[in-house]
Amino acid sequence: MRLIAATHNKNKLREFKEILGPLGYEVVGEDEAGADIEVEETGTTFEENARLKAEAIHAATGAAVVADDSGLCVDALGGEPGVFSARYGGLDTDGARVELLLKNLAGVSREKRTARFMCAIVFIGADGGLVASTGSVEGYITEAPEGENGFGYDPVFFSPELGKTFAMASAAEKNAVSHRGRALAGLAEALKYTPDN
Ligand code: IMP
Repeated sequence: MRLIAATHNKNKLREFKEILGPLGYEVVGEDEAGADIEVEETGTTFEENARLKAEAIHAATGAAVVADDSGLCVDALGGEPGVFSARYGGLDTDGARVELLLKNLAGVSREKRTARFMCAIVFIGADGGLVASTGSVEGYITEAPEGENGFGYDPVFFSPELGKTFAMASAAEKNAVSHRGRALAGLAEALKYTPDN
């Protein structure tokens, strides 16, 4: 079955294809599907935002769709940047947002720099049936960026499971423990038991 992935991000699209392809879904990006709809992320949770995106594209196309929303929650900052991760401080680049994060954590000890990436994924079948899944990964924010891979806050997110920052990990290493990898694995598992999707 054809499945529209509500994303412009090539890395996310590849992950959706890798994990949902083997279940029989022909995953196409929203650009390729001609379903490039601007959806305002007005929700206060990752789940709400993922659902807003999925519902808008499903309503416009009638097709099966999968959408995600994700971000970084830092304990010492009361959960910020959270749902505002992509627009933290109103800044335009990953580098500037990472710099702001480090500035806001200046003087905070290693023990108090705990954080997690969170991801919510919402699938809506062609019949309108909704399946939701979430995933998270624990870590802490380093004092300085390290590593060249990945995107966003990866250079300052240290994963104790991997023993390095996400930006020092290969894509396969990151996907095995990441919030998105886990949410997608949960979705794949749920879809196996959801008839007619
Ligand atoms: P969205 O899910 O595309 O709205 O992304 C939200 C923002 O959260 C991204 O722009 C990144 O700043 C951050 N983010 C989400 N997932 C990751 C990740 O796996 N690594 C690094 N940053 C991430």
